[in-house]
Amino acid sequence: MTCIVLTSALSLGQLCRVSVNQSIRSTGMGLSCVKELQHRTLSCFAQNQSGVLKHTHKHTEGSTGGWSQTTLSNERRTVVGGGTRGLFGRGGGGDQPKQTLEDVARRIRERDHCRIVVMAGAGISTPSGIPDFRSPGSGLYDNLQQYDLPYAEAIFEINYFHHNPKPFFALAKELYPGNYQPNATHYFVRLLQDKGQLLRMYTQNIDGLERMAGISPSKLVEAHGTFSMATCTVCRREYPGEDLRADIMSGTVPKCSACKGIIKPNIVFFGEELPHNFLLYLTDFPLADLLLVMGTSLEVQPFAGLVGAVRGSVSRLLINRDPVGPFSGGALRHNDVAELGDVVGGVRKLTDVLGWTQEMEALMAADRKKQQSPVCHLLGHLRNGT
Ligand SMILES: [Zn+2]
Repeated sequence: MTCIVLTSALSLGQLCRVSVNQSIRSTGMGLSCVKELQHRTLSCFAQNQSGVLKHTHKHTEGSTGGWSQTTLSNERRTVVGGGTRGLFGRGGGGDQPKQTLEDVARRIRERDHCRIVVMAGAGISTPSGIPDFRSPGSGLYDNLQQYDLPYAEAIFEINYFHHNPKPFFALAKELYPGNYQPNATHYFVRLLQDKGQLLRMYTQNIDGLERMAGISPSKLVEAHGTFSMATCTVCRREYPGEDLRADIMSGTVPKCSACKGIIKPNIVFFGEELPHNFLLYLTDFPLADLLLVMGTSLEVQPFAGLVGAVRGSVSRLLINRDPVGPFSGGALRHNDVAELGDVVGGVRKLTDVLGWTQEMEALMAADRKKQQSPVCHLLGHLRNGT
């Protein structure tokens, strides 16, 4: 099984460098990639010649995805697996009983699921008010207009950063940990952690809300990096993210005290290596006994491809506004469940079915109180290394 995972992920990485069309034909990962063709291929992670996973991207017209925010609907839909054989691992058999949200909840409650892997994207951050820097009308978008970016994603391109780091630092000022509060989706994962049932959370978000919700850095893979640490772009000296806070908040580009080079928060730019702990997926996904996918368009590779890296017998629960990846078409497995609609609403429904609502409310209330205390706020930053 490990071999299958390796093959899948590596081929995905390599294919990203070639073309999305080829990745559809060769891997069948396709439905997320079809979307990429229809819209803009926001980004993909590709493996370079030396075998290092890197963050790359292409542009076409009319993007959605990535951080993009779309109108949340209150409509709720639960879709269960169609029994079609999955393309990674063993798929579902047509004769096997369909799984429901209640089935998944029961197995979580009875601790049959104790190695849960969570994959999350922008859709869990938008309910906290994280703005989309590509959405006209959002304060952040308007703020970035003054920098005359050639295109929105240039903000995450290292060459552009060297040319003009100011737009990135304007974004950093907005997203720096402390401006926004985690929501029920983050606290649900925290509950899984507290109950000893979280194997790992893989997030595409860079807002640090997972850490703020108390998810341990050892349980987190921040695939697109973090503001909790920063590195001098010249001498590679490392700095705690908190050391940059004053400069970033005052609109000053932070400079290295040793060499005066620009210090860049450890956010993964296009073409940069993924964080080393991303490689934990090699052991995490084969070990997982439940995959929970929340708030992601599954358009960024190889992150998106991980959804196919769990064993075929493992349930995959999607809580998302729309069906995405294998949940949107023929690669659905019999044990897949999709809870569609507002993401926070979906998580709250699952929490409710689990009978955890009271516990989660208490946890959120306690954390809110803690975050209002200046001393604890500081302690929280120290604990999280931010
Ligand atoms: Zn330096």
